[in-house]
Amino acid sequence: MSNKLFFFAEATTFACKCGKTHHIPTQKTLLGKEVLPCIPQVLSELNLGKKLLLLFDHNTYEAAGRETENILKRASFEVIPVLLEKPPELEYLEPDERAREHIGSFLFHEPDFILAVGSGVINDLAKFVAHRIQIPYAVVATAPSMDGYSSPGAPMLVGGYKITYDATPPCAIFMDLEVLSRAPLPLIQAGFSDLVGKITANADWTMRNILQGEYFCEYTWELVKGAMEILRENAEEIGKRKEEAIYALAVALLNSGFSMTMVGDSRPASGAEHLVAHYLEIMALHRKMNPSLHGLRVGGATVIVKKMYDRFLQELEEIDWKKSENYSFTSQEEELKIHFGPLFPFIEKDAQEKLKWDREEMKIANPSLLYRQLQDKLSVIPDPASVLRRAQAPQTLEELGFSKKMIREALLFSRFIRKRVTILDLLGKAGLLKEYVDYALS
Ligand SMILES: [Zn+2]
Ligand SMILES: [Zn+2]
Repeated sequence: MSNKLFFFAEATTFACKCGKTHHIPTQKTLLGKEVLPCIPQVLSELNLGKKLLLLFDHNTYEAAGRETENILKRASFEVIPVLLEKPPELEYLEPDERAREHIGSFLFHEPDFILAVGSGVINDLAKFVAHRIQIPYAVVATAPSMDGYSSPGAPMLVGGYKITYDATPPCAIFMDLEVLSRAPLPLIQAGFSDLVGKITANADWTMRNILQGEYFCEYTWELVKGAMEILRENAEEIGKRKEEAIYALAVALLNSGFSMTMVGDSRPASGAEHLVAHYLEIMALHRKMNPSLHGLRVGGATVIVKKMYDRFLQELEEIDWKKSENYSFTSQEEELKIHFGPLFPFIEKDAQEKLKWDREEMKIANPSLLYRQLQDKLSVIPDPASVLRRAQAPQTLEELGFSKKMIREALLFSRFIRKRVTILDLLGKAGLLKEYVDYALS
């Protein structure tokens, strides 16, 4: 197997060139053919106990849940099935109070561990609940749709607002290539689109490293880059569900999740493109709209953010940072209060920090270094729209049902929902954000 497709099959600890000691806590990651039959043996080796909550929904039960349940029962595991159902008024199952309470109602069984069968939300719910009650969890992946299997975060809906909680990664990840390849195509494309977003996420991280002296790990970038290069060359194969491409996609998503675990937060995997995607999700849920899939939103946002980055790199040396000095802090805060309405209390703290950062003086000491380092990340996928097109994935946010107005607002306001500085903030600071947003959307 190519070196570009390395992933951590076992737990490890190692000293990295970045100065940190990285730790991978996931003890077993199986990716390949005939993975489901190996589950009982791996679980036994990990000494997790015999009694488990098996989490699934109707779709994931058909995809791998029934088979997993039968395999476990034959190996004399005590399986307590937990069917998660989406409320009729929602398009998808959400990690909300209702879903958490439903899982909670099974905890009187005192399970030894939780086994999730699913992808995004089911994995997040299992990770969150297991962490809260301090039991291990493992996951049987049903789709290569996101990078949250191996990551240390569990996004939850609380009072209608998405908050990502720190949580322990799974002790085992089971990825059966046949199951993954049979997943609904939009889910596969969502995973691919999420991955495309790593170029702008890592460009943002690099930018903070150079301008703010923030810690950066080159190794986590290299881990994801290798599989991305393979996928860039074979994007068509994603749309055709070719097993080699699905394998590369699964490796890339695993590594992206592992890189978050190594660094301790989502920095290697999430930048402006994720802020725009999160913003659209929050607003869609608030307005009772279908938010579409996480990865697809990220892909559409990446196309726009990349366009803004390309222009920024061209104009980098001519930017007049003094231009931003004439805006008023209080009027901005008032504007945010009106824009976010009842959601404002959720973002208030992070927004204040952003506004504070906006007023700090800015000087780029070495523009050519910044240019080179940003290009190094962005050039891995020079044209995100064409790569998405080749994978038959949506290339615009409009295709996902968002209006022009909502997309424009997402680009202007999403930077206030998290503390982390991105290209959107840099443009805001330079007084260029509106101009760049209009340019990117034209
Ligand atoms: Zn490192
Ligand atoms: Zn993502």
